[in-house]
Amino acid sequence: KSGFISIIGRPNVGKSTFLNRVIGQKIAIMSDKPQTTRNKVQGVLTQSSSQMIFIDTPGIHKPKHKLGEFMLKVAKNTLREVDVIMFMVNAEQKIGKGDEFILEMLEGNKTPVFLVINKIDQIHPDELVDIIASYKDKYPFAEIVPISALQGNNVENLLSAIEKYL
Ligand code: GDP
Ligand code: MG
Repeated sequence: KSGFISIIGRPNVGKSTFLNRVIGQKIAIMSDKPQTTRNKVQGVLTQSSSQMIFIDTPGIHKPKHKLGEFMLKVAKNTLREVDVIMFMVNAEQKIGKGDEFILEMLEGNKTPVFLVINKIDQIHPDELVDIIASYKDKYPFAEIVPISALQGNNVENLLSAIEKYL
């Protein structure tokens, strides 16, 4: 099994931390051709059961100018072609305008979207129920997975869940 995964979400939710954890030393560069900033391969996780190719999908925020509009269009097309979209949010923060913009942008997309609630090491387990409730009705998420990218909690389960969609 192999497939493409796009990690999207507001700045500072922990996207890079997650990638560093799962790819770590195993990072592999697909080719030595210079890559454009668009849809750059960020890392490849090769396991015995699967290969996951994580790609960067910039431009997913409210466009302020023509170039921004173009970037958003490119991002939308990319998100249609990947196998799984990881929409990452910060468990410490309430759902914000940036999150809502991303979810509106995903409407009509047939790619499975995982809601990945990161930084659960920073909250009380009881709070998780409310956090999940606040997102649940905003989008038909394929899976909802709480993790701590920093400490590694539940990251293996997330990878196993992704594998099922490849
Ligand atoms: P990005 O902008 O989405 O790529 O976010 P980063 O990966 O750069 O993380 C932003 C900040 O959040 C950094 O200071 C990280 O150390 C911190 N961070 C990321 N994941 C976690 C987590 O699971 N728990 C905690 N407590 N902090 C985290
Ligand atoms: Mg980052």
